[in-house]
Amino acid sequence: MRKILMIDDDRLQFRITQAHFKSFQSEVYELEWAATYEDGLPRLLSGDYTACLLDYQLGPRDGLQLIREAISAGCRTPIVFLTADSSSQVDIEAMNAGALDYLVKGEITPRSLERSLRYALKLGETMEALRQLATRDQLTGLLNRRELDRILNEESERAQRFGQPLALVMVDIDHFKAVNDAHGHPAGDAVLREVAKRLAALLRTVDRVARYGGEEFALVLVQTDRRAALVVARQIAEAIAAEPVVIEGGPTLALTISAGLAVLPADASRIELLVSAADRALYAAKHGGRNQVIGYHELKSSV
Ligand code: GH3
Ligand code: MG
Ligand code: MG
Repeated sequence: MRKILMIDDDRLQFRITQAHFKSFQSEVYELEWAATYEDGLPRLLSGDYTACLLDYQLGPRDGLQLIREAISAGCRTPIVFLTADSSSQVDIEAMNAGALDYLVKGEITPRSLERSLRYALKLGETMEALRQLATRDQLTGLLNRRELDRILNEESERAQRFGQPLALVMVDIDHFKAVNDAHGHPAGDAVLREVAKRLAALLRTVDRVARYGGEEFALVLVQTDRRAALVVARQIAEAIAAEPVVIEGGPTLALTISAGLAVLPADASRIELLVSAADRALYAAKHGGRNQVIGYHELKSSV
């Protein structure tokens, strides 16, 4: 059953809401209760709930702060905000902070509550679908180029702030055009999806994989120095070369990749320079015979 989280310091309000839930006409939800900010926030961020009913008054820190903190931590759970009176600006602030709807406590009826939850859920789904379209590559499901740019900026700022290295690996499938030419575009697409799947499976959850363009991928490895990045990139290259790609109802293809990597701040001071450094290393890997990983530091002396 779909679970709804109510964050409210008032037990009576929880009981009333629970009673409302029992008289919903078409939706069945299970209502759970968190009485404090400290209990509510981690439960909201757990992703276990279909939606959240959030009270404005929560002791020293209020519901607005909780929304802001949840949203900045990446919360996608639809939030319906509960305010005590209709005359204040708090409802508007809550919507601006990321709530999908609000209800005035004294005016809540089972019908209005049911309608509001249904509306918030629907809007949440639509927003999630739009987010997917805006940030994902359609063919592979990996992050798209635009989202990669955003993440690189975000991660480089964080890396700089905490004095940690950030590695970028550019991966390109070797002789990919030959797959299209010999077996057709759908087989090429299947190869791209399979390589994407392997790249994602081989990385840690904190790392990011994007489709950079055609048959080129970018791996963003956080808190990773040159030595560790080289190990990861070589493991990936070996894993792809070791296991031929089986095309359903088609050929089995032995594939290799080439990769170039660069590390912030050792090889570059800014993101744009990091990208071009990794690109140059990839270029060198291609010209060095393909099926290999080259670090930018290896070519510096020769250029
Ligand atoms: P290299 O080893 O130098 O990387 O050679 P390559 O053949 O892999 O690289 P090249 O850049 O010459 O060709 C890339 C090909 O990728 C050309 C293009 O038609 C194909 N391609 C790009 N996007 C897609 C796609 O979404 N699906 C399919 N099937 N092919 C694509
Ligand atoms: Mg290629
Ligand atoms: Mg290419």
